[in-house]
Amino acid sequence: MAPAGPPYDVYEQTGKDMDRARAATSIMVEEVRNYLYNSAEEWTKRCKILEVLEKDPVFDKSQREFMSRTERYTRGMALTNRVYELEEQHGWTQRDTSMAIAALDEQLPIGLHNIAFQPVFNLQGSPELVSKYGALVASRGILGCYLQTELGHGTNVGRLETTATYIPSTREFEIHSPTVTSSKWWIGALGKTATHGVVQAKLILGGKDYGPHLFFVQLRSLQDHTPLPGIVIGDIGPKSGGGFGPTDNGFAKFNRVRIPKEQMLSRFAQVTDEGEYRQPPHAKLSYGGMLYIRANMVTGGGWLMAKAATVAIRYGTVRRQGELGPDGFEKQIVSYPSTYYRLLPILSHAYVFIQLGKQLTKAFDTMASRLANGDTSLLAEMHSTTSGLKVLVSSTGVQDVEIARRSMGGHGYSAFAGLGRLYNDYLPSVTYEGDNFVLDQQVVRAALKALKTFLSSGAKPDASKLSPSLYYLRLLVPSSSPAKPEFAPSAEEWLGGPSIAVLLLEWRAALVVQELARNVKDLDASVFQRVSKAVTEAFVARQVGDMIDGLKGKLSSGKTGETLTKLFTLYLLTTVEAGLVDLLSFGVLRSNGSGDVSRPLRLAIRKSCEDILPEAIGLTDAFGFSDWELDSALGVYNGKVYEALWNRAQAEPLNQTEVPEAYGRAIKPILQRGQIQAAARLAGKAKL
Ligand SMILES: Cc1cc2nc3c(=O)[nH]c(=O)nc-3n(C[C@H](O)[C@H](O)[C@H](O)COP(=O)(O)OP(=O)(O)OC[C@H]3O[C@@H](n4cnc5c(N)ncnc54)[C@H](O)[C@@H]3O)c2cc1C
Repeated sequence: MAPAGPPYDVYEQTGKDMDRARAATSIMVEEVRNYLYNSAEEWTKRCKILEVLEKDPVFDKSQREFMSRTERYTRGMALTNRVYELEEQHGWTQRDTSMAIAALDEQLPIGLHNIAFQPVFNLQGSPELVSKYGALVASRGILGCYLQTELGHGTNVGRLETTATYIPSTREFEIHSPTVTSSKWWIGALGKTATHGVVQAKLILGGKDYGPHLFFVQLRSLQDHTPLPGIVIGDIGPKSGGGFGPTDNGFAKFNRVRIPKEQMLSRFAQVTDEGEYRQPPHAKLSYGGMLYIRANMVTGGGWLMAKAATVAIRYGTVRRQGELGPDGFEKQIVSYPSTYYRLLPILSHAYVFIQLGKQLTKAFDTMASRLANGDTSLLAEMHSTTSGLKVLVSSTGVQDVEIARRSMGGHGYSAFAGLGRLYNDYLPSVTYEGDNFVLDQQVVRAALKALKTFLSSGAKPDASKLSPSLYYLRLLVPSSSPAKPEFAPSAEEWLGGPSIAVLLLEWRAALVVQELARNVKDLDASVFQRVSKAVTEAFVARQVGDMIDGLKGKLSSGKTGETLTKLFTLYLLTTVEAGLVDLLSFGVLRSNGSGDVSRPLRLAIRKSCEDILPEAIGLTDAFGFSDWELDSALGVYNGKVYEALWNRAQAEPLNQTEVPEAYGRAIKPILQRGQIQAAARLAGKAKL
């Protein structure tokens, strides 16, 4: 007997479920939205820009999943051209345009011009070079890329092979790729788009190698876009899972290409006409551009997690599967503890990283303006903070998008769910801008150095001089430190405010760094990851504590503030949970002899999730994504996911004919061969 169908119309129920969840939200969504976007004005401005984009057929997203790589590149360039046309028409500011580009949800070659090439050029070019080309760079009269990585070396910049040899007689540099492995490789926007680039090459003066320096090099003709003589350029081909489809990551080989001496980026290190080297005042002055990208990656990662959370929570709200609930309907999948436990932490990550990114961008601006005046005092702190955060945000983002996709079951694997695309585009973020495992080492080195300096600064080191990222070190001064909790906190204590979680995460950082310093001559294989994570999470935890304090008085609705506090607390509690191995190994969390020490924490997490769950749709609505922007059949605002999936499947090119082209060429011969063989077999049997 066939099983009875559900006692409701599944197709209709989705919309009802979404409406009901939205109606049940008690937070003030608009207020949260303004909090995320900084103000109502920012939000309104964004809406106006999105309205322009959504109306314009150039920005139609309906066909992109069916496009070839070449078509995606061509479309990407058309989008870029149209955005800048609109910028001119509507008088958009640079920020407005950045907002528009972000909403397109594509990895575009222009990103490399805006985020990598332009800041490096402006920060490191000499004032003369910037005044000569700055206007062209700013208005995209030339298009740039950043050529550092080579076929043979990425992380180890010191071993790059491209050379820039100074020729005093002509006051020129000769850029040369002496080997196949010295070919520049992976360079975004180089393959087909860029006209110019900043090339990282070993500076050779009088036969001596001064290590990698940057040079501004024209790559293509401004008349017909052909590569200039002596330069072989191309696209490196498709990337994993179709990620970065519209970006032309490229290769380049230079055959003794001459550039004027002025095109060395010489704001810091310089070469005299005679070929003498002038050292930069601070070895790390040239890091500015890289730190800018890393600081931006925190905000970008936050919004990526916001998209993943929105799609998966919306789908989880309307998808019913499994056990029957009290209403006689199958349960909404988001109501299963194993689902909300996966999704609500992603929501909390999104809120934390969006807020953190804003703070970091401000801190970067302060550092950059000081740097412009030769003040390098904030550079080291900024470097280690952005390194640690880049690792944390990119690793978390990659993990979260996949967790969100999987939470949606089979439909999550459809391209129309939209998360596969996000994942493939975000995946390399753990590698570019510093491979995460390599950056971990830098974070740890900075922590060890700081520990040494702090503990050697007298009988009673002054904790008030510690920068925010090193504040945990104060705990190592015995008399002044807040004590470790005697026993593991109860669930009520975990939920009572951020201070316990923040303190424990700081204790964990202090103890792992101290332990590392003791064992520095005999390291285990995972130590850098472990210590870097502990140190960065201690910093973030304190910032989250401040975010919670900052909510007081900021929001008019008590319920809204309470919900955000719970969300930030969930961030802290799940971070503690993920750090339990350290907390238990160092005895920071101790049992009082009655069973599982971590149980109260886990119960607190469940309670926290249960409290947040009814507000989850409101909290995702507050991100303000439109359907066009999310481009996900499972994340549609009205919840009608089956309708959306059905409609999108109809557009599949294979469905445009009833019988596919492959029928005549392959399916038919297969069938015929099989039929003949079967007939022969039957005939054989009959003979027997
Ligand atoms: C999508 C994408 C876009 C990119 N865009 C650009 C661009 O525009 N311009 C540009 O110049 N480059 C670009 N890159 C290159 C990127 O910066 C490099 O891939 C990155 O620096 C890592 O270098 P690699 O690929 O040579 O890896 P490798 O350095 O060979 O690393 C391979 C592995 O070895 C490990 N490893 C390496 N060194 C160490 C060490 N010292 N200690 C411990 N482990 C180590 C790493 O953790 C990694 O697992 C891009 C890359 C990608 C994927």
